[in-house]
Amino acid sequence: MKIISDVNELKTYLKTQNETRGFVPTMGALHDGHLSLIKEAKKACDFVVVSIFVNPTQFLAGEDLDKYPSRNDADIKICALAGVDVVFLPQKHNIYGHDEVSLKAPNVRGFVLEGATRPGHFDGVLTVVNKLFNIVNPDYAYFGKKDAQQLNLIALMVKQLFLDVKIVAVDTVRESDGLALSSRNIYLSKEERKEALKISLSLYEASKMLQKKIYDAKEIKVEMSKILEPLEIGYIEILNRDFEMIEQVEIGNTIILVEALVGTTRLLDNIWL
Ligand code: AMP
Repeated sequence: MKIISDVNELKTYLKTQNETRGFVPTMGALHDGHLSLIKEAKKACDFVVVSIFVNPTQFLAGEDLDKYPSRNDADIKICALAGVDVVFLPQKHNIYGHDEVSLKAPNVRGFVLEGATRPGHFDGVLTVVNKLFNIVNPDYAYFGKKDAQQLNLIALMVKQLFLDVKIVAVDTVRESDGLALSSRNIYLSKEERKEALKISLSLYEASKMLQKKIYDAKEIKVEMSKILEPLEIGYIEILNRDFEMIEQVEIGNTIILVEALVGTTRLLDNIWL
């Protein structure tokens, strides 16, 4: 496995490889969620690149950029064991200059949910993913359904900028009690870890209601918010796969999304129906 930080070195090395190329972009502190993306990439591709880069432009002032977990040595071991071919581990100066060209998230889909509370976040995400796609030039790129809005916007960017990469969506990996894995879970105290479980429980409640054929979005949201109490709810939304609000759940075309604050940690989760 090669570990490369320099963009030109990576591009030159990749020119010598003409196998099907899979790409898994990450911000590191790898867990089984990331590993599941890597495994999917390994299944479909002969050559797999993982990037580890805590992208500063997607953090707003006052967010956790400075304390975001960094475990490069452990991450590199995980990648080696998983059969990754290249870990791209750039520094900020390898990716960004000054007076930068940047992408803007779309005005509607980019400014609801996460985009509403974190204006500019998705500009940073799209800018860095576009840069990474241009550097790695993958055939397939793997993203988690856990970050549903991110996945949706990246798929939109690929379509609208006519990029030559196929986006693959990977199911959310959870702890055995249901909590969605996230690099930010390490911020949780023991007490908060218990409280955080309310997020996946609220989604479980929604799926129980659907089993009882209750499809009304308002009714479902009310029950979910009861379960989430006393957490501060960022949003509970019921959307179709195009990220439009819907009043009735349409099985096969719905995502139910939750964001809640546990202590000072903002956690996301969702289910795809
Ligand atoms: P991050 O390092 O948090 O930027 O995540 C890198 C990729 O891993 C993104 O595509 C995430 O959606 C995905 N990911 C994060 N957590 C999970 C999870 N629990 N299950 C599946 N994919 C995940």
